[in-house]
Amino acid sequence: MNRPPHRPSAFDTVKHYFNLAADHLDLAPSARKLLMLPKREITVEVPVELEDGRLETFVGFRVQHNDARGPMKGGLRYHHEVDLDEVRALASLMTWKTAVVNIPYGGAKGGICISPREHSKKELQRITRKFVDQIHEIIGPDKDIPAPDMGTNSETMSWIRNQWEKYHGFNPACITGKPVEDYGAKGREEATGRGVGILSYKLLKRLGATPKETSVVIQGFGNVGSHAAKYMSESEFKIKGISDISGGYYAEDGIHIPTALNYYLENGSLEGFREATLITNEELLALECDLLIPAALGNVITMANVNDIKAKYIVEGANGPIDADADARLFERGVVVLPDVLANAGGVTVSYFEWVQNRQYYSWSLDRVRQELHAILSTAFEEIWQASQTHHVSLRTAAFMVAIGRVWRSAQLAGF
Ligand code: NAD
Repeated sequence: MNRPPHRPSAFDTVKHYFNLAADHLDLAPSARKLLMLPKREITVEVPVELEDGRLETFVGFRVQHNDARGPMKGGLRYHHEVDLDEVRALASLMTWKTAVVNIPYGGAKGGICISPREHSKKELQRITRKFVDQIHEIIGPDKDIPAPDMGTNSETMSWIRNQWEKYHGFNPACITGKPVEDYGAKGREEATGRGVGILSYKLLKRLGATPKETSVVIQGFGNVGSHAAKYMSESEFKIKGISDISGGYYAEDGIHIPTALNYYLENGSLEGFREATLITNEELLALECDLLIPAALGNVITMANVNDIKAKYIVEGANGPIDADADARLFERGVVVLPDVLANAGGVTVSYFEWVQNRQYYSWSLDRVRQELHAILSTAFEEIWQASQTHHVSLRTAAFMVAIGRVWRSAQLAGF
């Protein structure tokens, strides 16, 4: 993929955040190299006969970044912009994310460069099975456990499980994000958005604000954005802006989220939603509000629009929504950013619960999942908050410092 020359690659951005934290930790160059380089990267060719008889060859990736703390964990993305650099960046983010919430995993990520909407379900199933044929030996419950990401869902996970089990026998813990009736975990689907809501509440409490007096704008109304909106409206936050690919929707006195959710469920999009004023996604990001939650795409806040951002706090629902230069500018301006490695870690946390339940052949209630999610995220938030206060650094640098410290300690205990 051709990138504009001024934009650093996604992996460069993660390395930048890693190095800022490593500087504070005074980490030796040898340790940085060990922790930053991926353990293994695989690129595979996925040739498939399409329904019209044509042969098409796709390219798939799996990057296994680090397994010092346990089996590697990370989603599988189907998107036309997937490339090795992006997968590598997201794999390393998973290493730091699982360490931030202190669950016994390392980090990995995978993807296929494909536009899923251009393919029938039959073709997607064929492509998925062929991809598993190429990588089944390096994934599994004790090695590397995939999960859904953009463009994949619980059905994709069921296909992967079925194909993997043809080689290795019954073991639903080989994959997470499965349908609830097929060894999935209750509460997995809502987990990332709910986590964003829980952590937003914790952040505001620390900053002396209350939900009732906090206006919120959310970009993206998919899995993360819609569940965050639901949880936050139930917690009495005033949500004045929401959006999806069709545009932004704004109401100064607050949007009635149950109505928006019903509309989205009925129409599959917010397009035509008349209970709010239609604006662009660019205008949405620049709205006057207290809390902004980008929960759609990466790199939506850059030097091109950072000075337009009026929010006092930003909680990163998406992975990498703010680029490194804009992040530094926001810090200078005193905007508090809760970083993706913590803010959207609710999903991988409940994926971990799913893996635990599968290994025990036991199913938890939704209440238990929610309680344990709340406990893990609360502990992680307090640890990162304290680290940022102690070292006088941003919450992002604090999160990386805590994560790097944990991964490096495991590497040392293993004898490095
Ligand atoms: P999704 O596909 O369910 O939803 C994405 C939303 O973004 C949709 O509402 C879509 O209309 C909107 N969107 C797409 N292009 C847009 C554009 N150009 N402008 C504005 N909105 C646009 O995806 P998701 O699962 O909600 O993931 C969103 C982000 O959160 C991604 O960065 C993903 O990596 C990250 N994330 C997701 C999870 C999870 O559990 N789903 C976990 C961690 C991180």
